[in-house]
Amino acid sequence: MKIVILGAGVVGVTSAWYLAKAGHSVTVIDRQPAAALETSFANAGEVSPGYSSPWAAPGIPMKAMKWLFMEHAPLIIRPTADPAAWRWMGQMLRNCTSARYSVNKSRMVRIAEYSRDCLMALRDETGIQYDQRTQGTLEVFRTQKQFDGIAKDVAVLKAGGVAYEILDRDGCAAVEPGLSASKDKIVGGLRLPGDETGDCFMFTTELAKLAEQAGVTFLYDTGILRPITEGNRVKAIETTKGTLEADTFVGALGSYTPQFLKPLGVDLPVYPVKGYSITVPIIDAARAPVSTVMDEAHKIAITRLGDRIRVGGMAEIAGFSKDLPAKRQATLTHSIEDLFGGAGDQSQAKFWSGLRPMTPDGTPVIGPTRYTNLYLNTGHGTLGWTMACGSARVLADMVSGTRPEIETGDLAISRYAA
Ligand SMILES: Cc1cc2nc3c(=O)[nH]c(=O)nc-3n(C[C@H](O)[C@H](O)[C@H](O)COP(=O)(O)OP(=O)(O)OC[C@H]3O[C@@H](n4cnc5c(N)ncnc54)[C@H](O)[C@@H]3O)c2cc1C
Repeated sequence: MKIVILGAGVVGVTSAWYLAKAGHSVTVIDRQPAAALETSFANAGEVSPGYSSPWAAPGIPMKAMKWLFMEHAPLIIRPTADPAAWRWMGQMLRNCTSARYSVNKSRMVRIAEYSRDCLMALRDETGIQYDQRTQGTLEVFRTQKQFDGIAKDVAVLKAGGVAYEILDRDGCAAVEPGLSASKDKIVGGLRLPGDETGDCFMFTTELAKLAEQAGVTFLYDTGILRPITEGNRVKAIETTKGTLEADTFVGALGSYTPQFLKPLGVDLPVYPVKGYSITVPIIDAARAPVSTVMDEAHKIAITRLGDRIRVGGMAEIAGFSKDLPAKRQATLTHSIEDLFGGAGDQSQAKFWSGLRPMTPDGTPVIGPTRYTNLYLNTGHGTLGWTMACGSARVLADMVSGTRPEIETGDLAISRYAA
C-alpha cells in the first residue's frame, strides 16, 4: 500500500518505521528541513510508563488555582479570548472526576507500557543510540504531606504490577548521589526502576536515517496545505511543493493536527499546551543526576542526557506562541541549581519551548476516522516520547489489517462521540 504520513516528529517517524517494516511504501512530509525539529526536539527525555497519568485528575482544579499564584509556577494561563482554549479547559475539567481519571489512566498506562516494550525490541533489533539510560526514574518530595499523598499512586502501580521503591532521604541520595548536598530539602522519593531516559531528538533523527535505508521517502521543507477528498476518502494532499496521492494517509502533525482536520469537518480536541526546557553541559559529573529526577513541587523533570543536563516542564495555556520569557528561564535555572547546584554550566544554557499536543483526557488519539483511508496518530501531550513506539506499532497493525497486540478500540477519535 502507498502511505503518506503527515509530520516527521517522533510520532510520524516511528509510524513510518513500523509501516515500512510491515511492507508498505511510505512517504513522510514535514515543513521543517529535518525530523523532530518541533515538539520532539528538546523534551525532558523521560520514557516513563510508570508515571503515565492524565493531568485531568481529582483535586487538580483546586491545585491549579494555587499554582497560578506561585513564584515558580508549574501552570500558567495567559489571558486569552481564544474559544478553543476555553472549550479545551472545560473538557479537561470534566475529566477531573475519579471515574474518568481511572479510565483515562488505564488507557495511558496500557499504551505506555506496550511502548516501552516496543522501544526495547527496536533497540535490540537496530542498536540505535540516543544517549539512553535504563536506570529508572526518581520522583522526590519536599514535604511530608506530598510524600504521604503517594499512597494513591502506589496503589495504581501495585495493581498494574509496576515495580517501585519508596525511599527515604538517604535512599534518594544513594540512587542519585548528586542529591547528597541538597538532600535536606527533600523528605523522600518514589523510584520506578523500570523507567528509562533518552534524547528524543537523537532517537528520531537516527530512526529517520534507518527508515530511509529501509526505503522510506522523506519530503522535508514541504508545507501541508489541505486535504483533497473524494466522497468519504482522502484522495490527495495539497502541499507547497505539489499534490500527493496515496492509498492511505496518517495525520501525525502534533498540535497542528486539528487545523489540518478542520476542512474535513473532523473535530479533534487537541490543544497546544506549551512547555519549556533548558539544557546545560555538565561541568561536575559527581553533582549531576544519573537518570531523571522529578521535582514534584515544581512539576519538572531533571534528566541526564550523555554529558548534558536537561530540565523540562511547566504548562502554559498561551495558544501557539513559542516565546521564551526570561521568567520561565529563571524557574528552570533555579530548578537545577536548587537540587544539583554546580553540576552544569549555566553560562552555556540553551533554552527552548515546545507545544504539547494535549487531549483533554490525556490519552492519545490513535486509529481510523470517518474517512476510510485517513488514520490519526496524535494527541500524545506530555508523554509522546514515552508512547511513540507503541502508538506507531498499533497504528501500523491497524492500517495493515493485523490485530494489534493490545486493546485499541478506545483509543480512536470515536471515543469523543459518546
Ligand atoms: C517541555 C516538554 C517536555 C516534555 N517531556 C517529555 C518527556 O519527558 N517524555 C515524554 O514522553 N514526552 C515529553 N514531552 C511530550 C513530547 O515531546 C510530545 O508529546 C511529542 O514530541 C509529540 O510528538 P509529535 O510527533 O506528535 O509532534 P511534533 O514533534 O510536534 O511533530 C509534528 C510535526 O508536524 C510538522 N507539521 C505541523 N504542521 C505542519 C504543516 N502544516 N505542514 C508540514 N508539516 C507540519 C511539524 O513540523 C512537526 O515536525 C514533553 C513536551 C514538552 C513541550
